[in-house]
Amino acid sequence: MIYLDNAATTKTAPEVVEAMLPYFTEYYGNAGGIYRLGSESKKAIIRAKETIAETLGAASNEIYFTAGGSEADNWALKAAFETYRGRGNHIITSKIEHHAVLRTCEYLEKQGAEITYLDVDGDGMVDMEQLEKAIRPDTILISIMYANNEIGTIQPIREIGGIACEHGILFHTDAVQAYGQLPIDVEDCHIDMLSAGAHKFNGPKGVGFLYIRQKAKLRAFIHGGQQERGRRAGTENVPGIVGMEAAVKRAFRIMEEKAEKETALRDYLIRRLLREIPDVTLNGHPTKRLPGNVNVSFAAVESETVLIMLDMEGICASGGSACTSGALDPSHVLLAIGQPPELARGSLRLTLGEDNTKEEIDTVVETLKRIVGKIRAMRI
Ligand SMILES: *Cc1c(COP(=O)(O)O)cnc(C)c1O
Repeated sequence: MIYLDNAATTKTAPEVVEAMLPYFTEYYGNAGGIYRLGSESKKAIIRAKETIAETLGAASNEIYFTAGGSEADNWALKAAFETYRGRGNHIITSKIEHHAVLRTCEYLEKQGAEITYLDVDGDGMVDMEQLEKAIRPDTILISIMYANNEIGTIQPIREIGGIACEHGILFHTDAVQAYGQLPIDVEDCHIDMLSAGAHKFNGPKGVGFLYIRQKAKLRAFIHGGQQERGRRAGTENVPGIVGMEAAVKRAFRIMEEKAEKETALRDYLIRRLLREIPDVTLNGHPTKRLPGNVNVSFAAVESETVLIMLDMEGICASGGSACTSGALDPSHVLLAIGQPPELARGSLRLTLGEDNTKEEIDTVVETLKRIVGKIRAMRI
């Protein structure tokens, strides 16, 4: 099997699983308990917050554990709106956000929020001038993703944060694709809130975190017990948290080497696809893109067919985004970069991980040449 869907989810690293195991069967105590068994859990949670905070240049009391990236996005947006709606109801985001942000924005519109969805250029970049112009006296939040999950484009986060800071507006970034892959500094980029999810960087599924700057006094998200400083109730997922910490340590340890390897393979794959298959378009920025992201559109081909045929050859990939697969609608991200719907329906996302080899990439190119040729021949 050749796995090229690492933007959807990654394999949990063996050292991550190993770190988690004792927290199921040995240190299973409630972190809120008075007994010593509970204090092991509590210590593990405190340690994990310190590890994560350090990677971001944050303080450990600014890290809040969640059940993943979607929850972190929901929390950031809903709480920012509810906390600050007295000051205004305007939120700025982009047209290419993940559905965890876009659907939350749609929900907030029903609650009285006004949302500006910024355009992006042909490479998927947000325009700083348009952002400046969109800012109003009643703007309370800017939410722009760090890197896009479909086309891999990395936004100028430092500039966006600078603009938000200058205007005294809260800045949230969905960094679910970027955290663990790229170095991030919340001070340098003036980030007030940041979402991440462990399963995108070889951690376990169902656990993530939201960084909330201490000054941004967001309201609670889950009401109940006093966990997570009273803002996110529920007995902590200690094995998940410990696993995420192990995945964070691992990701930052191998970050540079991994990025270098993936970037080389990515560019090799892009080069071969563009050169050896007729009528292929690269989607996303040619250089300011995630190390492992390849996204192309094939003219006169439906991605569903390609995906099924790839699967028969043992190759896992996705079309557009995993969340829209099954639906026939072309990706909102590809439409936003100006791609015609017919072409967007023929898009293919191949996302690399550290285990992929050049031989695998060669196999994928040869297989795609054959598959795309066959589909196009059948159409005529
Ligand atoms: C995967 C992803 C999410 C959702 O994260 P989950 O942990 O699966 O809930 C949100 N935003 C982006 C950019 C993602 O890639």
